[in-house]
Amino acid sequence: MIKPSVKILVGGADAKARPQYYVAAGADIVFRGDVDPAALVEHDWSEPRIVEDYRLPFTALSRPAFHKLGDVARYIDSHDGPVPEGVSTPVGFIYFTRGCPRECDFCESRRTKFEALPLDDAIEMLKHYRDNGIRTLNFSDDNLLLLKRDYIIALFRTLREMGFAWEFPNGLEIGRFMRGEELDSELVGHLFQNTRDPTTGHHVGAYRVFVPVETFDHRAGYKKLKPVETQNRIIGEILKSGIPEINFGVVLGRSADDHTFQNIKNGYDCIKSMVKTYAGVDARYSVFHLIPISLFRSMKTNFSADEFPEGWNFYFPIYDGDHFSAMELFDRRVEVIQSIDPSIDVIMKTGMYAYS
Ligand code: SF4
Repeated sequence: MIKPSVKILVGGADAKARPQYYVAAGADIVFRGDVDPAALVEHDWSEPRIVEDYRLPFTALSRPAFHKLGDVARYIDSHDGPVPEGVSTPVGFIYFTRGCPRECDFCESRRTKFEALPLDDAIEMLKHYRDNGIRTLNFSDDNLLLLKRDYIIALFRTLREMGFAWEFPNGLEIGRFMRGEELDSELVGHLFQNTRDPTTGHHVGAYRVFVPVETFDHRAGYKKLKPVETQNRIIGEILKSGIPEINFGVVLGRSADDHTFQNIKNGYDCIKSMVKTYAGVDARYSVFHLIPISLFRSMKTNFSADEFPEGWNFYFPIYDGDHFSAMELFDRRVEVIQSIDPSIDVIMKTGMYAYS
């Protein structure tokens, strides 16, 4: 060890999944949940320790110490590629809720306790971000639309009054815009409408959203998904609001067969034809391989996370499918993406985001 006075604290999704790896690599403490202040005080630092899941009170997370970051102005990157022209930086990540009671089998957040910051705290948090120079927000909520309608409306009114721009990189449960058979167009407007500030020219309002389509053919398996026709109606309303950039994503499971790929092609072609009727909207159409986490954690894989951690990502299947080998699944995914969204093919080769 070069400098034993430096203590190494590790956390995050990978540390949660394989804490022993980080202990073996020299971490003093591995946090499988939030940082537990009591564990820091009690720790004698002579032996490494894994601190099991701990949740800080939500309000304790609502005042990030921006001054510890140095120059906040350097934070110009968004989650999903450079921000469009007119969107100001720096960009700050923010969340008003955490947890999600839904059951989506591929998601680590499934069936976790849903909590919302009290609205007054949420507004204080926004002031804190604004007063620290943050101009644009990336929402990191697991499922923002589980909030009550009145809360959402008050929150987004405040965001507009404060002049923020924002994006939803985590995806939204867009089926929540339906009230029975009625589409809540007013609520859609609160989230997605956007303008230019007449004096500064800054973009105010939404500039990008990720819409998790998840699947075109096994929609009954996910309670959050509405029938495709209803989903497309909601997407149409979002497009009508004037959102400049929209991303769609489908998850490719192990059971994918020829029909799955044909359904992705047909489903995306239908959405594309809708998107094309709105001038000035850029869209991206993705297909992701399943990462064997959550309910798929024990599935057979070709390499373990310790043997080949880089392989455990959305862009390569670390498993053979029921109908295709891993390589065939990969090739079929690339083929379908090339036919739907050639710019994604470029993205994969250059590592630079773009919109078709
Ligand atoms: S709705 Fe979203 S956050 Fe909730 S379990 Fe499903 S994918 Fe995860």
